[in-house]
Amino acid sequence: MKKWEIFLILLVGMMIGMATTTSAQESSSLEEAKNAYRARQRAVFETREQTANASLTALPTTDELIISCKNAKNTYRAAEKELSAIDTIITTNEGDKAYQHDLKQLRAKQETLIATSKIKASGTGTQIQQRRELVIQLAAIKKERAALEAKWVREDRPPEQSAYMRAPYYPGEREESSRTSIRRGGWGDLSGSYQPPPPLPWEFSVCFPDESVKEPPVNEGTSKVGKIVPTIRTVYFIPKGGVQPDLNLLRRRMEQARDWFRSKGIGTFDFSVSTKTGTKNASYYQEDVWGRVTGELGLTCDNEAQGVSIIIVPSSFKFSDAIGLGRHCGVDYSAGFSGHAMIPINILKDEYGLSTLIHEMGHAFSLPHVPDDGRPTLMCENGGPQFVSQAILLQEEVAALRQSPYFHQ
Ligand SMILES: [Zn+2]
Repeated sequence: MKKWEIFLILLVGMMIGMATTTSAQESSSLEEAKNAYRARQRAVFETREQTANASLTALPTTDELIISCKNAKNTYRAAEKELSAIDTIITTNEGDKAYQHDLKQLRAKQETLIATSKIKASGTGTQIQQRRELVIQLAAIKKERAALEAKWVREDRPPEQSAYMRAPYYPGEREESSRTSIRRGGWGDLSGSYQPPPPLPWEFSVCFPDESVKEPPVNEGTSKVGKIVPTIRTVYFIPKGGVQPDLNLLRRRMEQARDWFRSKGIGTFDFSVSTKTGTKNASYYQEDVWGRVTGELGLTCDNEAQGVSIIIVPSSFKFSDAIGLGRHCGVDYSAGFSGHAMIPINILKDEYGLSTLIHEMGHAFSLPHVPDDGRPTLMCENGGPQFVSQAILLQEEVAALRQSPYFHQ
């Protein structure tokens, strides 16, 4: 026997062996094949989630980044002051030669400090941005996986039962009887084991180049366990003895807000308009409009199931330093499963009011402030553009809002 013949026999033998092994792993029934396919798909999602999670874990926490960014900013601001003080002395040309020499050395030192701390500050800005993108990515993976799991559940249902089930608009259990009965264990998670992320500071803003984080309001409210609904609740809050408002104005503005979000390619949303009469008179709420009204309505950040609410208060209600307020319960850009916005009714009378409404809704839907870069960004830290017709959304904002369970086609 020639060498190549031995090789050929061995090769054929190996191939037969491989074929036998493969066929032993093959599924013997459709059920088995289906389950094996699903297991493989689940493993793919597992890997994707693990990869994104690993990248997220590798980054410093948002709190750490904000602190190091603030420190870097403080350093270069102090150095800039020092530098201009040195320059003033140099230009007035006082002192002896040795003094002048020392001043020049100090000047060079401050310049280096400014350069390095600016790099440090913008570096933390980049990392904050990376964190956001990863959070969006993770939410998208979870949503995609939940949609697939929901599809498999539907496929497995006996046909007579699925005939009168409407396809869920959002992955999660949907009861046929009521359109406001969507319950969800957590963000895109059917198992219910998902823990919502911790709430961020009020009006969290992009660290670089310049913004301070405002203090969260004192919230005296008690948590009210409710259901998450795919409908944005718009509630006009009337203090005891207050007058009935013009709800048509409110409805019209909400429709305009909806048209605006739709024009940005995000989709449409459902909203309800109702009134709620408070237990106290106006002067009581005036003390702390946000805290007392959200408190009475049970809107805290303890429970994501509260959903998104827009609260309209009487014109007489004033906030200390804002014309509208918005808060998201969860991490930035996490697409808004729970958040609140509050605006006095008189603000809604003109188009600037509409842009305020949309800006605050943006916060309620998890969008933080973005630095003023000269463009008419809706979420600009300076309050956004005056007219919504000019307002723009950033790519990451559109991506986040598209993940929201409140928006649909
Ligand atoms: Zn704002």
